[in-house]
Amino acid sequence: MRALTISEHGGTEKLVFRTDVAEPEPGPGEVRVRIHAAALNHLDVFTLAGLPGITITPPWVMGADGAGVVDKVGPDVTSVNVGDRVTINPGISDRTCEYCLRGEHSMCVKFRLLGEHRPGTFADFVAVPQENVRLIPSTVSFETAAAYTLATLTAWRMLVTRARVRPNEDVLIWGIGGGVAQAAMRIALKHGARVWVTSSSDEKLARARDMGAHETINYRTCSVGKEIRARTKKRGVDIVVDSVGESTWNESLIALGRGGRLVTCGGTSGPTVQTDIRRLFWNQWTIMGSTMGNDAEFEAVVAELSSGHLTPVIDSVFELEDGRGAFDRMAHAEQFGKIVLRVAE
Ligand SMILES: [Zn+2]
Repeated sequence: MRALTISEHGGTEKLVFRTDVAEPEPGPGEVRVRIHAAALNHLDVFTLAGLPGITITPPWVMGADGAGVVDKVGPDVTSVNVGDRVTINPGISDRTCEYCLRGEHSMCVKFRLLGEHRPGTFADFVAVPQENVRLIPSTVSFETAAAYTLATLTAWRMLVTRARVRPNEDVLIWGIGGGVAQAAMRIALKHGARVWVTSSSDEKLARARDMGAHETINYRTCSVGKEIRARTKKRGVDIVVDSVGESTWNESLIALGRGGRLVTCGGTSGPTVQTDIRRLFWNQWTIMGSTMGNDAEFEAVVAELSSGHLTPVIDSVFELEDGRGAFDRMAHAEQFGKIVLRVAE
């Protein structure tokens, strides 16, 4: 089959489009999906560069997000049929550990990701457990479903489950060009929150305003924390969604008001931050981590997608064979919305 692969870690020059990769066979309880569209996440760039403790078997198939048609089912598959249009949850759990039994699948002690621990979605076919696919209606395109699923699942858990966003709360979201940030904005707006977004690009900020953002700040030209304090008469915001990490942490905490919640799902600028404990307890902040989502959250976001809500912005569509161009676009942070790979018509 065709696939976008790597045989060693590095920059985008390590990506190789191949036509001779073995097709996966669905094992017990698994389905094989013929991928029609896939989408890029920052995760893919990290996998390309190499993550500590993760070993790949060349030629390694990249990709986490994907949508397509079930083409083959393994033994004991009961919830899906050949021919079903589906979207994929790339987080795979063992379903037997104490966290899985509690319904917290993304806390699984054996949590695995497509494209990172298992062959991914940037290919003609991928095999996944039946629990990792959900039906999508014909009104939702494969490109939309692929662009939607992981970013929205991640943002939903961050804002709805973890930070418990409420109407009229002020929510700060960093880097509004990215997929998780945009999903977070749509979810916060849907819950009646006041949304603040940042970017280094005035053009991206203008587009965010068109999509409903209440306040916009260019982090290149001013200090985000100070600016928020000034515009809120020193009060600050209730929730910060920060997946940038090192370079934004301090500003995030300056922006965070009393009783505020900071929720993070990543550190694209670096992993190590400093926090003054005195400010943490005095302001009674909650700092929380979040990773992907559980089955209930997957169910909830697919229901939103199926009813035409929270639809993602697609920045650009590349053919699978031009996957390197898609990675270059993401590596240079040029995108506004999701970068999609078209795998089949
Ligand atoms: Zn588990």
